[in-house]
Amino acid sequence: MKNYNPYDNVLSVVKNAAEILGYSKSEYEAINYPERELKVYIPVIMDNGNVKVFEGYRVQHSTSRGPAKGGIRYHPSVNLDEVKALAAWMTFKCAVVNIPYGGGKGGVICDPSLLSDTELRRLTRRYTAMIAPLIGPDQDIPAPDVGTNANVMGWIMDTYSMLKGHCIPGVVTGKPIALGGALGRKEATGKGVAITALNTLDRLKIPAEECTAAIQGMGNVGSTTARLFYESSMKVTAVSDVSGGLYLEEGLDIPDIIRYLESGKKNMLCDYKKKNIRHISNQELLETEVTILVPAALENQINGQNADKIKARIILEAANGPTTIEADEILNQKGTVIVPDILANAGGVVVSYFEWVQNIQSVSWDEKEVNTHLEKVMNHAFRSVWDIAVEKQVTLRTGAYLIAVKRTVEAKKMRGIWP
Ligand code: GLU
Repeated sequence: MKNYNPYDNVLSVVKNAAEILGYSKSEYEAINYPERELKVYIPVIMDNGNVKVFEGYRVQHSTSRGPAKGGIRYHPSVNLDEVKALAAWMTFKCAVVNIPYGGGKGGVICDPSLLSDTELRRLTRRYTAMIAPLIGPDQDIPAPDVGTNANVMGWIMDTYSMLKGHCIPGVVTGKPIALGGALGRKEATGKGVAITALNTLDRLKIPAEECTAAIQGMGNVGSTTARLFYESSMKVTAVSDVSGGLYLEEGLDIPDIIRYLESGKKNMLCDYKKKNIRHISNQELLETEVTILVPAALENQINGQNADKIKARIILEAANGPTTIEADEILNQKGTVIVPDILANAGGVVVSYFEWVQNIQSVSWDEKEVNTHLEKVMNHAFRSVWDIAVEKQVTLRTGAYLIAVKRTVEAKKMRGIWP
């Protein structure tokens, strides 16, 4: 695949929004750059006694609207430009749903599936210690992303607390419930995607029962989205993971597929064998004829090479940055409705915010309270983005950035550039 720099993608979308908003270059120049980038080399004693050094990053794109906020990714393809882009997307994501955060992101170049639990724990603790000068409940609050989970967040919380000498649950979100994690956080991103899907269908006057969907990625976000689509009586005709995809015209039995994937750590879709199910590639999945396509894996999946083959009427970006600028243009020309990542997948960080609010106040909400608030925030953000897109005759992505860039730039202007 062609090498796309996701940070170029960010710059071009921001420029477009800033120009429509009438900002001069000086007014938005600062948000073209991250505030801080930290690169660390993390030595880890592997189980065989050898020392291996991993490269990691933490980037804070903006703290204009509040502390930096964003996940930590463990993946072999992590690189600084990707982390910078992911950090910037967090700034605009938090701004579009109007929660009081800036944006940050972290990453370590590693393949967590090849590490034992003890290696993963040592890597996480050492990485946490090395980024500790930057993070904190009022500074920068990490969370899970691709390749990390609640256990990893628990180790981050413990390491940071040990270093400071007292318990600080608000330093990280997406923790295990027993350590102050929010009920509903694990499902929150998928839930936000499903809420956004129903809002989009409603605006386009497509009944959910008449809707088919294809989902790329069956990790935490993809599988929750698939289950919620299935429960809303949509027909999920295709799903995939790194090993490949499944297709069934009548609609897949999603609960059965999820049970299969959860029943063994090494279970992959390529080994899921059921009558009439066709095995397809990830490329084929993206090109299937469906109402909604949900990329829920990595960046740049929909690009200049495959955009004209995409037949979905709606693309809901559950992943961060799944569509390149080139592809965006091709699809907009075709009239595909693209619901942008910073809106569609914001449910995760919204519930992270609720988790942090509970932690710093030492209170706990029940799941119903979490979900009611999540729905309210997602519905409100969707309405604002849709309405501005209609009013200004722009795409939903541009609409979302008009709101997000404006909130970020205005906050910066009000604070002023110090000194
Ligand atoms: N990694 C998630 C995202 O990209 C969640 C971030 C968070 O909860 O801070 O939105």
